Amino acid sequence: MKKRIGIVGSGTAGLILAYALKEHFNVTMIHQRSADEIRNGRVMSTQVHFGPTREREKRFHMPKWDEKNLLKSIHITIGEQKLFTGMLKEPALSVDQRLYYSDCMNDLMKNGVSFRQEKVSKDQAEALVRDFDLLIDCTGKSGPLFPFPIDEELSPFNAPQRKCIVGYFLGVEPLNPPGVNVTVLPGKGEMFEIPAKTEHGPVAILFIMAVPDGELDEFKGIKSAEAFTEQMKRTVKTFFPAIYNRIIEDQFTLCDKNGFLQIAITPTIRKPYLTVHNKPVIGCGDSVFLNDPITGQGCNLSSYCAEQLYETIIDYKHSAWNEQLGEDYWKRARPFVKEVTEWTNAMTKPLPEHVVGQLLQGANDQELADKIAEWFESPNKAHAAFFPTATIL
Ligand SMILES: Cc1cc2nc3c(=O)[nH]c(=O)nc-3n(C[C@H](O)[C@H](O)[C@H](O)COP(=O)(O)OP(=O)(O)OC[C@H]3O[C@@H](n4cnc5c(N)ncnc54)[C@H](O)[C@@H]3O)c2cc1C
Repeated sequence: MKKRIGIVGSGTAGLILAYALKEHFNVTMIHQRSADEIRNGRVMSTQVHFGPTREREKRFHMPKWDEKNLLKSIHITIGEQKLFTGMLKEPALSVDQRLYYSDCMNDLMKNGVSFRQEKVSKDQAEALVRDFDLLIDCTGKSGPLFPFPIDEELSPFNAPQRKCIVGYFLGVEPLNPPGVNVTVLPGKGEMFEIPAKTEHGPVAILFIMAVPDGELDEFKGIKSAEAFTEQMKRTVKTFFPAIYNRIIEDQFTLCDKNGFLQIAITPTIRKPYLTVHNKPVIGCGDSVFLNDPITGQGCNLSSYCAEQLYETIIDYKHSAWNEQLGEDYWKRARPFVKEVTEWTNAMTKPLPEHVVGQLLQGANDQELADKIAEWFESPNKAHAAFFPTATIL
């Protein structure tokens, strides 16, 4: 008989795990919202799936998306000075998670994965362990359900470092070549302009990362789509004139009334395994590896860790499942989690001088500009650039 795996949460981490594990095990997804509720609900994030993440999607036969709107570059501006456009090694893709998650859920349902719609409470979580040989907590930033211990070395903050202000907009002329447009305003925060595919066609996501209580933190108390759009227009006009110049006034609107979001995250990394009722419980994705979105690595890290967990579970396919499985998974995943986390945390602080030097040099050196773009698809390279003398253990 196939071993039974329960996955709580049908987001990036839970979905890729379900695809990877379904051929080998009896997989059940326990999820708070139905595919339709997700599709018709509020945007949850921004998302850029870089080359390695897209490779994993292919490896595990996840749904294919049309390749019309691939992102090929990273544009970097500091203040009002556009420095360069670095080309990615492999094109990236950004699909509204409402579309991506609901499509994957419907596809998995057709392909033998059981679905149980239920919001699991912390009290119920322990009992759920008894139903499976392994329970995986993929509850994202609202999790975890289990008290996975905090990894203090990788969790230096006890408060959010940025306010995340996100709107999915129509009526912004795209940049050429298509890509992620990063504007850094030292001391104030950042703007990420990200083209994305949605149910309403292509949009430009305008994603402001505001230093709390700083000049960009202008959206406090805004609840309606109309007020959000008006404030975004004002903020872009004042602080991001190069983007404002590409706004088509009479077309500038959210792609739907749920196309905006405000959130703030306290980055926290946890040791992702526990034993409950003599069975292993494992965490994957934001529930245990929660970083600030400033480097756009959350989906990519979730996907990486899901693959590491898959490989570990396959190694244990014919042996006993206990805490050792969790320990082996963490040993495999931690070096990369550490690189992503340390780079991401460094990005929330003033950029080190040697990094600013490289960015300025990238303006006159296309090879270096391309290497900097590669930081986002291979964050170990970003880590090496930020911490040139570090050794990762
Ligand atoms: C503003 C913002 C911008 C971001 N930008 C980027 C970006 O550009 N690039 C990038 O790679 N990442 C980005 N991220 C991070 C990325 O969205 C996450 O890292 C990624 O979605 C994590 O996947 P996950 O599966 O762990 O969690 P989620 O995608 O959050 O999924 C968790 C799932 O669990 C379900 N769930 C939660 N609690 C329960 C419960 N108790 N019972 C049952 N189900 C439950 C939820 O409904 C949800 O479906 C951003 C995040 C934010 C907030």
